[in-house]
Amino acid sequence: MIRAAVLPAVGAPLEITGIELPEPGPGQVRIRLAAAGVCHSDLSLSNGTMRVPVPAVLGHEGAGTVVSVGEGVTHVAPGDGVVLNWAPSCGACHPCSLGEVWLCVNALNGAANVHARAADGRALHPGLNVAAFAEETVVAAPCVLPVPEGVPLTDAALLGCAVLTGWGAVHHAARVRQGETVAVFGVGGVGLATLQAARIAGASTIVAVDVSPEKEELARAAGATEYVVASETTAREIRKLTGGHGVDVAVECVGRAVTIRTAWESTRRGGRTTVVGIGGKDQQVTFNALEIFHWGRTLTGCVYGNSDPAVDLPVIAGHIRDGRFDLGALVTERITLDGIPGAFDAMLAGKGGRALVVF
Ligand SMILES: [Zn+2]
Ligand SMILES: [Zn+2]
Repeated sequence: MIRAAVLPAVGAPLEITGIELPEPGPGQVRIRLAAAGVCHSDLSLSNGTMRVPVPAVLGHEGAGTVVSVGEGVTHVAPGDGVVLNWAPSCGACHPCSLGEVWLCVNALNGAANVHARAADGRALHPGLNVAAFAEETVVAAPCVLPVPEGVPLTDAALLGCAVLTGWGAVHHAARVRQGETVAVFGVGGVGLATLQAARIAGASTIVAVDVSPEKEELARAAGATEYVVASETTAREIRKLTGGHGVDVAVECVGRAVTIRTAWESTRRGGRTTVVGIGGKDQQVTFNALEIFHWGRTLTGCVYGNSDPAVDLPVIAGHIRDGRFDLGALVTERITLDGIPGAFDAMLAGKGGRALVVF
């Protein structure tokens, strides 16, 4: 029996409870978790904004040590440190054949599997494939990547979602160039990673925007040169900070219509807005036809940072080893499994950066 955070049904509170985990079958890997980050997507799964089969063990951002491997697994061995990748690509579908592995149509097939049993025998699904809110988990081999050399195992948990997403939003989706100005909306785990990525990209002015005035220090430590508390005048304030033009690039890490619209309005004529936040169907963003023409701006979505973890993790690890990317600066709270419901409440209240479950 191992302990895990189980979502019994959409909208129900998480249960921190014992589960039975089988030994890894062919092509599977069993991992003892070292740490797991609490991501806003876990909250979105629990309240139904995003859907996976339930009951499910949530948690999709984690790292740990390989306990055992099933038949045919050769890229990792017991004792290896690994990062979990919740969106493994199949290599065979149409997006994969185009090299857009982050759009793989088969990435979440594993969510339908039964990977464990509750103490009362109920079948449990692995949330977003990896069920990281548990002392141990069993995942498909493509969901594990070796921890890059020089990255501490606990901190490596953040690589699997927040860091790849923020890194990729800046370097792949928005393609921020040296000297450009950037605004980042939402200073949570992904927002903080995005700020650090913008700093590494050589952005000149980096504006962080959040509803909370309390995150300024956190944002500045991650690379923000300016801090704006979100209000009706945010776009005007950002234009004022950029010589009246607006920023070259806005990255929206919230997933709300009003924030997406403000991010778009904060960019210069010809500017680019990348939406990383995941919102609900009720969030309708409206534009009039004349302004789309007049401003000549670009608005794009971004999935998992448009990243290929196998390619991007070694690059990010280089920046971590050289001290340019600070994983520890993303974590504002270290908690146990029992602290996850509290971390959800803090996210709803807009508090803090990343809460990290340390096992
Ligand atoms: Zn996530
Ligand atoms: Zn694919």
